[in-house]
Amino acid sequence: MDSFHSVSEESNMIVAVRVRPLNAQECNRQQVTNVVQVHGNSNELTVQAGSSADASAGVTHFFSYDQVYYSCDPEKKNYAGQAKVFEGTAGPLIETAFDGYNACLFAYGQTGSGKSYSMMGIEALDDAALDGGPPHDEAGIIPRFCHELFRRIEAVRAEQQLQVEVEVSYFEIYNEKIHDLLSVQHATSSSVDSTPVQQQRPALKVREHPIFGPYVVDLSAHSVDSYSALRNWLAVGNSQRATASTAMNDKSSRSHSIFNIVLNLTDLSTDDGLTSDTDSESTASLKQTRRSKISLVDLAGSERISVSGSNGERIREGVSINKSLLTLGKVIAALADGRKAGGGNGPSTPSTFVPYRESVLTWLLRENLGGNSKTVMLATISPASIHADETLATLRYACKAR
Ligand code: ADP
Repeated sequence: MDSFHSVSEESNMIVAVRVRPLNAQECNRQQVTNVVQVHGNSNELTVQAGSSADASAGVTHFFSYDQVYYSCDPEKKNYAGQAKVFEGTAGPLIETAFDGYNACLFAYGQTGSGKSYSMMGIEALDDAALDGGPPHDEAGIIPRFCHELFRRIEAVRAEQQLQVEVEVSYFEIYNEKIHDLLSVQHATSSSVDSTPVQQQRPALKVREHPIFGPYVVDLSAHSVDSYSALRNWLAVGNSQRATASTAMNDKSSRSHSIFNIVLNLTDLSTDDGLTSDTDSESTASLKQTRRSKISLVDLAGSERISVSGSNGERIREGVSINKSLLTLGKVIAALADGRKAGGGNGPSTPSTFVPYRESVLTWLLRENLGGNSKTVMLATISPASIHADETLATLRYACKAR
């Protein structure tokens, strides 16, 4: 029997799916086929599940989302590269941030499905960006976002209407513990090869700020005044992440990384008729300030971690990854239910219980997921028949978000 899953129409949440191409290994294996089809330019896709030996052989699953990006088209007619994915997903969040709202984009999917490729791209090809050059064709969402953000800031500065201050922080959550990725000694925003202060980075705690909500105590935050400074901090964090990952057997696929950009916006225009040159003190007090935070999140691999036969550390890891992704699923489903109860678009109704505090990840993303904030979920999938079960699990998870 065929099945149909679809997302509803209006929401603060955009759900996008990206299908990566088959890789060389998959292409060379005889029994591996492409089981994901995207139909023309539509936002619908089908997954052909089950091998001929399975009871489920021949079942076609239909899914429909806000956006579908396909990179497997041999004739490249509907090919979605890095620029197209950025423009559809993270690009619009720059305006959201300038309007003073928080925003969040997270990549969800099994390890190897294209989360890091989508979020960061191929960093080795993006060296010129460190000197302020534009992102390479293979650059992902985060470097493109940094570039576009400062292009927009330069335009705003030229108009002299708005003062914009930018702050960056970058951390990872591993086993429910937070580690700063930018805590480097003597690191300046133009230095990418700084030595980490300590290989054993201390775990940081979460607290509630009365106005700004949950925050990480003692997390370093760095003011940046240019795209190249921001891009350099990103490189510092990535190299810290890679170092910690190599030391712990590819930990990065089992940790969540969160790149935060905070904008402090001060309105410089005084032509509202309320102030005059002789009244500069009241002008200052009337200046409107807004603060927005954008979180760009590369989640741990969503594959169910088997704990059988694992040692204590692996069991802890598996439990905490499963728990935080499960909680994220519950949070976005609760927000979606709340919005539906509130009549569609806009924030969820206050009566909806949203279990943010059940994981560190959702607690910290609270101000970026609920309320008036905009959220983009980018679900990444492999088209290979050997991954069909994980692909279906990812697609079903993505459906719950709306
Ligand atoms: P994940 O972060 O989900 O574990 P990666 O982003 O590391 O997965 O992707 C696994 C491999 O597939 C990498 O070699 C990456 O370059 C490649 N890849 C992923 N998505 C795409 C894509 N859309 N186009 C081309 N190559 C991709």
